[in-house]
Amino acid sequence: MNMITNHLPTAELQALDAAHHMHPFTDANGLATKGARIITRGKGVWLTDSEGNQIIDGMAGLWCVNIGYGRKELAEVAARQMEELAYYNTFFQTTHVPAIALAAKIAELAPGDLNHVFFAGSGSEANDTNIRLVRRYWDVKGQPERRIIIGRKNGYHGSTMGGGSLGGMAPIHAHGGMIDGIVHIDQPYWWGDGGDMDEDAFGLERAQQLEAKILELGADKVAAFIGEPVQGAGGVIIPPATYWPEIQRICDKYGILLIADEVITGFGRTGNWFGSETFGIKPHIMTIAKGLSSGYQPIGGSIVCDEVAATIAEGGEFFHGYTYSGHPVAAAVALENLRILQEEHVVDHVRDVAHPYLKQRWDALADHPLVGEAKLVGLMGSIALTPDKAKRAKFPGEQGTVGFRCRERCFANNLIMRHVGDRMIIAPPLVITPDEIDILMDRAKTSLDECYAGLKADGLVTA
Ligand SMILES: *Cc1c(COP(=O)(O)O)cnc(C)c1O
Repeated sequence: MNMITNHLPTAELQALDAAHHMHPFTDANGLATKGARIITRGKGVWLTDSEGNQIIDGMAGLWCVNIGYGRKELAEVAARQMEELAYYNTFFQTTHVPAIALAAKIAELAPGDLNHVFFAGSGSEANDTNIRLVRRYWDVKGQPERRIIIGRKNGYHGSTMGGGSLGGMAPIHAHGGMIDGIVHIDQPYWWGDGGDMDEDAFGLERAQQLEAKILELGADKVAAFIGEPVQGAGGVIIPPATYWPEIQRICDKYGILLIADEVITGFGRTGNWFGSETFGIKPHIMTIAKGLSSGYQPIGGSIVCDEVAATIAEGGEFFHGYTYSGHPVAAAVALENLRILQEEHVVDHVRDVAHPYLKQRWDALADHPLVGEAKLVGLMGSIALTPDKAKRAKFPGEQGTVGFRCRERCFANNLIMRHVGDRMIIAPPLVITPDEIDILMDRAKTSLDECYAGLKADGLVTA
């Protein structure tokens, strides 16, 4: 058997990695001089690296390992499914049990009449599907001129051509070649952009940009609006309470399809099964991936409401699909993941235990001299680093320099916490216990203190 073992010394593995492995979202030359950290094992909320360090994973991998690492049940289900039926497609009037069972389970868990699932291999692919779905929907409805999709600046919907275009990440767009018919409004980021406005008034103002944009473009040209209930990769931007109800009102008023990208917020992250429930959103389509399989297998999908699914069906064949749509091994693993989430009451644990406990400690970070605000919904949180709390000031120079320094301190202290610009973010596995939260928070506090001391030594903060 060809087992992948960790028999090579770290430096040798790093050299091979630098020579042959092109990393996503990475400055290759920068990484090559430093060497990537090599992760070798995972158990619960803990990772081990090739030097034997025990790292607490405050990011659940990339927001995906909701049930934690190392659950044997998922490995066993995968092995059994591979032996029974390793692969078959769902294209030409065939199907298989894992895809059927998973679609039915998702329909049961999803709110309202979101009863139909189109499977993809990832969140990006699912959002590409959504572009095709909503444009096809309006074609079948006899309104083919409704093509434009409105997203938000700093939104993240993946990094395929479609996903990158729907998202509003300036560095992605700067690489060029985005697809047409997608426009962006501002994000509901009160701490960064709200100025003197009251938070609720600011939330309304940002939502009303959607109405202004629809009127500018012509309502008969707009197909859909897409947003993450909470912007994740954009820095865990939790919107003001007024924001989503106003977005919903506007979508309803102009008959525009509402897509909730639940790739992060789905499957328990916000203390409900879906972020749409936490924020009172009624989407026509939900994008899912990540927590659907807790990252144990690559799988994503679009959950589609009755009316949209019926309209697509009315149009005859929908010329779209992926070889791995509903892949049997991925589907079987996702189903086992959902069984664990449900039977072990993981979503209740987030709402009743982990969130309230983490919230006390997270909110207390707002007293740290470097921290301007601390926000948390369910188990996704962020803090803003600032040289001046009262003014909600940004650090001079390039955004993200201080965030990067803070992240480096976290990494050195065996805590994985990410930075987005000068915001620090966490999204630990949903099964994290209060004791583990204490360890995470103690390491976060130490890292912030060290970062602050370093900034003081360099004259970047004065206090
Ligand atoms: C991660 C993410 C995606 C993209 O998913 P991939 O599986 O990386 O393609 C899409 N939307 C949101 C909100 C995400 O966080």
